[in-house]
Amino acid sequence: MEKDKFIVKGKNLSELEEFFKGIGLEKFRAKQLYTGIYTNRYKNFGEFTNFSSDLRNRLEEKAVIPTLTAGRHLKSSDGTQKMTFEVEPGKEIEAVWIPSGDDGRKTICISSQVGCTLSCAFCATGLLEFKGNLKTWQIIDQVLEVERVVGEKATNVVFMGMGEPMHNYFSVLKAAHILHDPEALNIGSKRITISTAGVITGIDRFVENKEPFNFAISLNHPNPEIRKSIMGIDKKYPLVDLLKSARNFTKTLNRKITFEYIMIPQVNMGKENANKLVKIARSVSCKINLIPLNTDFNGWKRPTEEEVENFKSLLRPAGVPVMNRRSPGRDIHGACGMLSLRG
Ligand code: SAH
Repeated sequence: MEKDKFIVKGKNLSELEEFFKGIGLEKFRAKQLYTGIYTNRYKNFGEFTNFSSDLRNRLEEKAVIPTLTAGRHLKSSDGTQKMTFEVEPGKEIEAVWIPSGDDGRKTICISSQVGCTLSCAFCATGLLEFKGNLKTWQIIDQVLEVERVVGEKATNVVFMGMGEPMHNYFSVLKAAHILHDPEALNIGSKRITISTAGVITGIDRFVENKEPFNFAISLNHPNPEIRKSIMGIDKKYPLVDLLKSARNFTKTLNRKITFEYIMIPQVNMGKENANKLVKIARSVSCKINLIPLNTDFNGWKRPTEEEVENFKSLLRPAGVPVMNRRSPGRDIHGACGMLSLRG
């Protein structure tokens, strides 16, 4: 039966070697399978012309190379494309292709879970029912499928789609390593960013394992009480502890961390907020990534250009690197926090 077969996609080299050994096949063939899947992007065993037909048949009997089932494909006027995939009937995820145009950067934003258990007050994904963790192959296949459909390779991958990556830690990190491996997808470790709403246990594990990837924390409010009211996760992992963990990250790994900060007028864009944010930024070696609220949501409005510029000017004197992330793909609900909105 298909479902009893060994899933070769999403496995690292040593797991494939183990599998080959288990069914009495030569180890070096596992390496060929590995590069066949991730470098040559073969989708079935028939494509492995470097294998004898005997070996191909043997593998077909025992194993399977699954592919995500494509759903909708939406194209934005700004070049962003959003693809949905059906993981199982009724379980849908989304991935977004974001070409940035000016600097040649092409980013794929991928999901780590079907829905999300967090319900951040500004995020549409949080309105969805949580339907489970993605498997490693389903995380990697978002990249393989988006690249295949778009016909180009991504320079960057961000785990900023649906879900909380730290709640699916093992599969997410395994996927990141395969995306990074020069023998697989060969994406530089600093071009892979994993983002968390603030799951401290995950951050600490990431540091302990000395993971090489970029790391971002969705800070979103510098005031502990207000953060708690808009990000439920702050009740479990309060801001003070989160910042301690972030400091430990930067000290131990000797790297900057990124703070993402959604700009919401009347909520976190005042002078007092800016001062608090600067204080935080001075205490942790970081970059700040400003994101304008993408939708009028929950009674909140998207900031005007003027409001954004004003907030930036409040931060500038602090000397903290501040980036203002564009939010492409709003017309197809492909921008941050809009995944799941259908319009
Ligand atoms: N759960 C992880 C991964 C998702 S990343 C995390 O929270 O980091 C999604 C990013 O989009 C987060 O930085 C989040 O703060 C931001 N976001 C959520 N809703 C948004 C909205 N309506 N407008 C702009 N950004 C939003």
